Amino acid sequence: MHAFEVLESNVRSYSRSFPAIFSRARGSIMLTEGGRKVIDFLSGAGALNYGHNNHQIKAAITEYLASDAVVHGLDMATPAKREFMEIFSSVILRERNLQYRFQFTGPTGANAIEAALKLSRKVTGRQNIISFTNGYHGMSLGAIAASGNRFYRAASSVSLAGATFMPYDGYLGPAVDTTDYLQKVLTDESSGVDRPAAILVETVQGEGGINVASKEWLQSIQAIARDVGALFIVDDIQMGCGRTGEFFSFEFAALSPDIVVLSKSLSGYGLPLSMLLIKEGLDAWRPGEHTGTFRGNNLALVSGTAAINLYWRSPTFSQGVQRMGELVRRRLEAIAADYGNSFAVRGRGLALGFDCQAAEIAEATMRKAFKKGLIVERCGPVDQVVKVLPALTIDPETLNRGLEIFQESLAETLKQTRSAVI
Ligand SMILES: *Cc1c(COP(=O)(O)O)cnc(C)c1O
Repeated sequence: MHAFEVLESNVRSYSRSFPAIFSRARGSIMLTEGGRKVIDFLSGAGALNYGHNNHQIKAAITEYLASDAVVHGLDMATPAKREFMEIFSSVILRERNLQYRFQFTGPTGANAIEAALKLSRKVTGRQNIISFTNGYHGMSLGAIAASGNRFYRAASSVSLAGATFMPYDGYLGPAVDTTDYLQKVLTDESSGVDRPAAILVETVQGEGGINVASKEWLQSIQAIARDVGALFIVDDIQMGCGRTGEFFSFEFAALSPDIVVLSKSLSGYGLPLSMLLIKEGLDAWRPGEHTGTFRGNNLALVSGTAAINLYWRSPTFSQGVQRMGELVRRRLEAIAADYGNSFAVRGRGLALGFDCQAAEIAEATMRKAFKKGLIVERCGPVDQVVKVLPALTIDPETLNRGLEIFQESLAETLKQTRSAVI
């Protein structure tokens, strides 16, 4: 790790959690330079829903490269973009009775969030954005202003204006419906909360600790947005593309967001690709008004099309993810039960979190797991939640082995820290 310690900025992060040099990867297995095989339960923070170097998707992009088709063309029209939009429209949108326009933004999730916030403000002529406690939307100034985490906010060193935070589902305990408060402050003429351009929400908070919003809660939020003339934006960057068991994380609640933000697994191959889905009447942009050099990169559009063709033409894949999610959840719940339920298991589909309640337990478990051959990361306000995010294409054997390693690592951690914990 010498080069990384000496040459790379101190800001490096995941290479500290997983101190090894990773040279190759396939499916759910990563190989280190030293020849060690490691199971990946992080999946590029949700950018690798179909696994590393998915060979069927790879075939599409190697063929594209070999043919000298256009790789970079700014946002010029290409067959690759035409095919992506047509397939996405017919296989994903039409099947779900949804109708949207596509805006390809800069390559990162944060780029797409910035575009969504800018468009909401432009459409409504308002400035305020309602976002939620523990929400995470990226690192650029507009996105971080709408994100809860104090550690990240503080690093900005400027005032982060433009967002008002409201309690997410469950933030005040299971007995309180936090939408009552939102409804009240947005309709009361003297609440001190400005009328919002948009309400921005994750249906499951990925970085914030795998906090799950209920169907009823999400439906209320959408209704409130409509009621007060705000756009309803779902940030589906991490939870979209099948992570919760359906293509969009909001399908289970039959929501109809005004803007959907997609990134991470959209390209299907870990290549950078982000876009907004914008309801027809809300596409208020003037030509070229929001731009960028790397928008809708063609290679990523080709792999994105291949992923949709491979996995989303029939319900089989989605059903498999839901079944696997239930299995993993039951397994994690059984582990929690072994310890008298002092831990909590949360999630939907294959986005699961094991809340260790204490940051030290989560960290020690993660480090032990890595030594034993498993990558699992942490999330939540103080990194106290172990995030279980396997590839949606993982085989049962690898999944099982990963869960065993997690269980053993937690058990050893608790044995060592027992006196401190009890
Ligand atoms: C990762 C993430 C982002 C930011 O995406 P970047 O590509 O890292 O800028 C925004 N929102 C959610 C929900 C995310 O998980």
